[in-house]
Parts: sequence; structure tokens; C-alpha cells
Amino acid sequence: MAETNEPTTHDGRGVAGTNWSRTYAYRARGLAEPTSLDELRRVVAGTDRVRALGTQHSFSPIADTDGTLVSLGRMPAEVDIDAEARTVRVAAGMRYGDLAGHLDRAGLALGAMASLPHISVAGSVATATHGSGVTNRCLAAAVVGLELLDADGHLHTITRQSHPDEFDGMVVGLGSLGVVTALTLAVEPAYAVRQAVYLDLPGDRLDQESLETVLGCAYSVSLFTRWQTDGVDQVWIKHRTDGVGAGSGSPLHGDDALPVEILGARRSAAPIHPLPAMPAAHCTDQSGEPGPFHERLPHFRLEFTPSSGDEIQSEYLIPREHLSAAMAALRPLGHLMDPVLHVSEVRTVAADDLWLSMAQGRDSAALHFTWTQDAAGVAAVLPRVEEALAPFAPRPHWGKVFGIEGDVVRGRYPRADDFAALAGRWDPRGVFAGAMVEGERAAVIPG
Ligand SMILES: Cc1cc2nc3c(=O)[nH]c(=O)nc-3n(C[C@H](O)[C@H](O)[C@H](O)COP(=O)(O)OP(=O)(O)OC[C@H]3O[C@@H](n4cnc5c(N)ncnc54)[C@H](O)[C@@H]3O)c2cc1C
Repeated sequence: MAETNEPTTHDGRGVAGTNWSRTYAYRARGLAEPTSLDELRRVVAGTDRVRALGTQHSFSPIADTDGTLVSLGRMPAEVDIDAEARTVRVAAGMRYGDLAGHLDRAGLALGAMASLPHISVAGSVATATHGSGVTNRCLAAAVVGLELLDADGHLHTITRQSHPDEFDGMVVGLGSLGVVTALTLAVEPAYAVRQAVYLDLPGDRLDQESLETVLGCAYSVSLFTRWQTDGVDQVWIKHRTDGVGAGSGSPLHGDDALPVEILGARRSAAPIHPLPAMPAAHCTDQSGEPGPFHERLPHFRLEFTPSSGDEIQSEYLIPREHLSAAMAALRPLGHLMDPVLHVSEVRTVAADDLWLSMAQGRDSAALHFTWTQDAAGVAAVLPRVEEALAPFAPRPHWGKVFGIEGDVVRGRYPRADDFAALAGRWDPRGVFAGAMVEGERAAVIPG
């Protein structure tokens, strides 16, 4: 199939210049938008510093370079489904929402999606972007193959079989190993999901055991809070009608209708946005009626601006067993966060083996913050948040804003040195090094 991807994100944000939220101005000297592999080869081989750009939804400088940014948004939007092998090969620049539509029409599904479908497959995989679910790994964990263009313009096909010692290091590559031109993802037969939102989870349900029950009661569960009460404001439940992912103590059974109350939280009478001032029409269906995976797993609909749009984001992944203690440590900061916080989201991510995945080796809880665009206010609060989370060894999301020192972040990834060596082998001249991933190969993360 060959159509051309849209050159802009569908909510009207432009290509390059700044990131999607207009909170980070790329320092790159130029932007290339090749329309074919040959053109891409010429761009990459013809410049001493280059980095691939996805749909520009990262808040950190992770995509940036002092050379040329190259967007794959105008490359052919190829999707090749192998129903028998249960895989799909997809062009790197395609958005998850577009891919999901193709899969749904073929009776197939992705196991996980992020909160928004607007992000590119390659850009999301490169930063270990995740959704939620005690049994759901990050989106990159579905990758079974990568097609990678190196600095000399050579295209390599990389699978676990072809590169057994390197594959787990290459998938979450932060854009530092080359330009990914296509990915092959594992898919599964289509399944249906019921979604509903529950309000006011009481504070006495936030001990670790109760949190495990709440977060494990459905395939994918998210908690939203502004830290202004001792409870949680919203609980988003995404329940697979085949029962997959609902833990043994779950009050949800098979394809039964969703109940009016879950663990003390009552079902919202009307659809609701995680940011209460924003229109619920931007969100996916919350009626409790079954629907396809891609119309329930993301919180936001492809046709609308996700989240607020006027925001900065931060997120930290910690071992899940510390979630209750971490939430208790953050709650006293509620009054400090209040003026600069739209909302916080708590999710779960299952452990994986990908060297630079934030959930590598740890079943994780993810503590997310959607801040206002008051950059100075956020910069004042962030150290307090990071101080409160420090006892839990947080790994910051690569695509979001954080202040933790580079050597501290590195120390939280057992394979960080192996990744530096990998980058040295695949990109010895540092052509793909960037603002957060400097030419000094030891500094694979900000320092
Ligand atoms: C409203 C909103 C909601 C979000 N929700 C979530 C969420 O639910 N879960 C979550 O984990 N994150 C979330 N994020 C963060 C987002 O998923 C990540 O920042 C993701 O990396 C963005 O992908 P992108 O396509 O915009 O890539 P970009 O931000 O453009 O780039 C990210 C990285 O990918 C690399 N890259 C891009 N394309 C290629 C390629 N072809 N080859 C090699 N490297 C490449 C870049 O070099 C860069 O290092 C959200 C962000 C926003 C704005």
C-alpha cells in the first residue's frame, strides 16, 4: 500500500521549528523531508550530523541535533500485514492511529497503545513510550524487526535472530543508532474493550495492596489526580471483553457490563476529560459499550488535540511495589504543584528486557505530570518532585522534561555502558549524536 503520510500532525501543529507543544525550539540548522529511501540516503550520507524526527511530541531535546533533522512524514506510508505470522511491517513515520485502523480492518490489534494515537511508530518506540496495564509492556516490546539506515547510507535489517546480542539494545535507540525506516511489530487477533471512568477513589484505597487491586482489575487502568485530596479524582478502566489482563481479584468478569462502582469509586454519569476544563468530545468512548482496541486504549481521539496542547510533561517510572509510598511522598507537594499542574496520571508498565526502556527489568509504576506552560514555575517545582521520588530510583521518560543528572540516570540502567558501546559500533563518527545524546559516546544520556 502506498499513500503519503501527512507532513503535519493532524491537530494542526507544524513540522520542525518547535516541538508539538511549542515549548522546545529545535536548534538544528535545517529540516529535510525526503519522499523516498534514495532521497533519505542522500540526506544522511551528505551531512556530518543528522537525527530523525517523528511527530515532534517529545518535550525534551531528545530529537534535536546541531545538524539536520530529517522527518520521514513524507515517505510512502507502507503497511504490510502478515496475518499468518501475526506481524505488521510499517513505515517508521506512520502514526499509531493510522496503523491501528489498518490492523482493525484486517481483524488484528496491537496489544498496547499510548494515551494518544497521534505519535509516530518510530518516535514512540525510540523513547520506550508506554500505555498502562500490569501485564502490558511498553510499545517497543512489540518490535520484532527494525530497518536501520546507517551514517554511510547502508540499510540493515535487524532482528533478534540476526543480531541476538544487540537487538535488545537497538530497539529503544533514542535516535542515536541511525534512521529507522520501517519496523515490524507483533500483533494479535482483534479484541474488544469496554471503557468507563470512575470518580473519587477514596484515600483508604491507596495502600499498596489496594492499589495493586485497582490497577490490576482491568487490562489497562489509569489514575488521574491533582494531589488536592487524599484520594484519586478519576479512575479510567479499559476492560477487554475476553477478560485478558483482569487480575484474579477483579470485580470485572468476562463480557459483563461494567459496574456502577469499583472499589469505592463511582461511575461518572457523563463522559469526562482528564483535564476537567477540556471537552470530553476529545476523548475516546466512555459509555462502557464494547469497541475496537484503538477506539478505547488511547484516552484521546485521533481527530482532536490530545491532552491540553498548552503544556509541558514529565514522567518517572519506579518499581511498582513502591507506588503507594511514592504517592504518599508526592501528596505533601500538592500545594506547590497546584499552580503549575494540569493533572497527574498514574499508570503501570510490565517489565521488559530492552536496555534503555524505562521499565527494563522492573515491573513499573509511571508517575506522570501534565504541567502548564509556566516553564519557570515548573522548573521551581521539578526538583522537589524529583527529591520526593529519589528513594524509589526513578527513571525519567526520555521524551519528557526532567532535571536528574545524566550520571544518575545512567546509573539506573544496568546496560547503559553496553548501549554506549553499541552506539560507538553503529555510529563511530557520532553522526546521530544529539542534544541529549552527545558525541562523547559515554554520555549517552544528558549530563
Ligand atoms: C499529548 C501527549 C501525550 C503523550 N502520552 C504519552 C503516553 O501515553 N505514554 C508515553 O510513554 N509517552 C507519551 N507522550 C510522549 C511521547 O509518546 C514521546 O515523546 C514519543 O517519543 C513521541 O514520539 P514522536 O513520534 O513525536 O517522536 P519525536 O518526539 O519526534 O522523537 C522522539 C525520538 O524518536 C527518535 N526518532 C523519531 N523517528 C525516528 C526514526 N525514524 N528513526 C530513529 N529515531 C527516530 C528521535 O530522534 C527522538 O530521539 C505523550 C506526548 C504528548 C505530547
